[in-house]
Amino acid sequence: MGSTKNKALWLWKGLVDLLLPPRCADCGIGIEAACSGDPLAPALCHVCRSRLDMLGCAVCALCQASPPATMLGETERCGACAGRSSPLAACLASVAYRGEAERWVHRFKYPGAGLAGLDPRARQVLSALIRDAASRAPAPPPQLVVPVPLHPRRLRERGFNPSALLARHLARSIGAVFSPAVLKRIRDTPSQTGLGRKARQLNVRGAFALQTDARLPPRVWIVDDVVTTGSTLAEVARELRRGGAHHLVAICVARTL
Ligand SMILES: [Zn+2]
Ligand SMILES: [Zn+2]
Repeated sequence: MGSTKNKALWLWKGLVDLLLPPRCADCGIGIEAACSGDPLAPALCHVCRSRLDMLGCAVCALCQASPPATMLGETERCGACAGRSSPLAACLASVAYRGEAERWVHRFKYPGAGLAGLDPRARQVLSALIRDAASRAPAPPPQLVVPVPLHPRRLRERGFNPSALLARHLARSIGAVFSPAVLKRIRDTPSQTGLGRKARQLNVRGAFALQTDARLPPRVWIVDDVVTTGSTLAEVARELRRGGAHHLVAICVARTL
């Protein structure tokens, strides 16, 4: 019963948000409609967004930590990433995962009562951040957008896949196909927290499997909330390549630096 009430409240809040002019998800101040075209404009006012640690644009498209040294395809890489093979053409996040950004991600990922208890403000902010990350991606746009899947057991526990909500929103906003079912998580891997790059790679090896009959279009975006070393995203990309995709870009909300 409680969850039905929560859902009704959530729907009501969504309706009110639609009818009223945009307000900052953090402080509630009205936001000028004039800022449209800026992915963050409908979600946060200038004061509140200044508290987020936005990642710069003139950085390596794979690690976002170092200045670019060379072009690889349509993206720029730093010296270290240029010498490393990756199944991803780019791996892009909007903000550094710390401070306010970390708070928003937690509000989004760990709501009180599963999907029905989702925090609409956090959803608004993360949707804006995922669109901002996508605005940094190399052209042309993808034909398909997929989330990093959760293992069915984790999905049952949590009630929703945060990455799938973000991927669906992003696909709609750019007019691409959203497909959460092409890929399955077949191994319930232990948490990656505290593991180094090599250990993370081993931890997620073989964790994903394509739907047996999946034939994918060439250009696919993979969506996740937070990227750390990129091991999970690289493993997802390798599996999508087996299905025929060959230009793969990861789009994330935040990056651990
Ligand atoms: Zn504000
Ligand atoms: Zn790099």
